[in-house]
Amino acid sequence: MLVVTCVKQVPDTTQVKIDPVKGTLIREGVPFIMNPFDTHALEESLRLKDEYGLRVAVISMGPPNTEVTLRKALALGASEAVLLSDRVFGGADTLATSMVLAEAINRLDQKEEVAVVLCGRQTIDGDTAQVGPGIATRLGYSQLTLVDRIENLDLQAKKVRVRRKLEGRHELVEAPLPVMIAVVQEINKPRYPTVPMRLMAESATVTLWDNKEMELSEETIGLKGSPTQVRKIFSPERAKGEILGDGTSKPEEAAHLLLDRLIEKDLLNL
Ligand SMILES: Cc1cc2nc3c(=O)[nH]c(=O)nc-3n(C[C@H](O)[C@H](O)[C@H](O)COP(=O)(O)OP(=O)(O)OC[C@H]3O[C@@H](n4cnc5c(N)ncnc54)[C@H](O)[C@@H]3O)c2cc1C
Repeated sequence: MLVVTCVKQVPDTTQVKIDPVKGTLIREGVPFIMNPFDTHALEESLRLKDEYGLRVAVISMGPPNTEVTLRKALALGASEAVLLSDRVFGGADTLATSMVLAEAINRLDQKEEVAVVLCGRQTIDGDTAQVGPGIATRLGYSQLTLVDRIENLDLQAKKVRVRRKLEGRHELVEAPLPVMIAVVQEINKPRYPTVPMRLMAESATVTLWDNKEMELSEETIGLKGSPTQVRKIFSPERAKGEILGDGTSKPEEAAHLLLDRLIEKDLLNL
């Protein structure tokens, strides 16, 4: 049985540069890393491998250099890696991205049953958190988001119990397999690769699936299959603040002035 982990290669910065004309990501000259949330998804899948004997397949959609990130996953202990790369996949929004990833999972499932798909909570560049749920919806899998603990995986009864991290509380949920689980970073501490595993990963095979292999209709993928397009990207202007008192020397006076101002504006529930 397989646990499929989705990992995205992202710019090593939260200051993503966008082409002002096309509204697309500028990838040139930017160092790339595995999306930090996905390192936790991968670690969790390796734990499922260790505990339940599942095999770990890692998949990523992206340009050819995404292979570097997939080799990192192999060095950490993934059993196989598949790169989904083709010019026609480019310019995809989250819907078109989920389309390609879901089809890849479907193809893997035809060879070996998929029990779990693991995703990160979100990416540090797109930040939408839509891709995991998009994959689950397309495949008709159960979906569990914001998971901070996999309590139990029962492969015989085909169900999983997880803990979800909500605001100020936790929730225990059970769902039937196959399931898509999107994890939060608190779930684990990712391991480091060993030197022998790193060396092994250098020569390991990363399977490439282009659209000749995937046979998806070009109307449903890439830019053509993306119903949403970025029209403009900009940083919001900060509202101008107000300096109370002389601004530096008398903090107590400033605190009183601030209190008066908040009461005046009816912003304090006294
Ligand atoms: C309207 C719109 C237009 C866009 N146009 C372009 C464009 O022209 N060019 C461009 O480069 N990008 C474009 N993007 C960004 C691109 O679509 C997103 O990077 C991609 O859809 C993933 O969404 P996200 O980064 O928000 O991921 P999230 O939904 O935040 O990711 C959640 C999880 O899904 C998995 N995941 C997400 N993406 C991948 C992936 N590619 N491979 C494997 N796993 C993945 C990871 O586990 C990740 O943690 C566009 C996005 C939008 C919303």
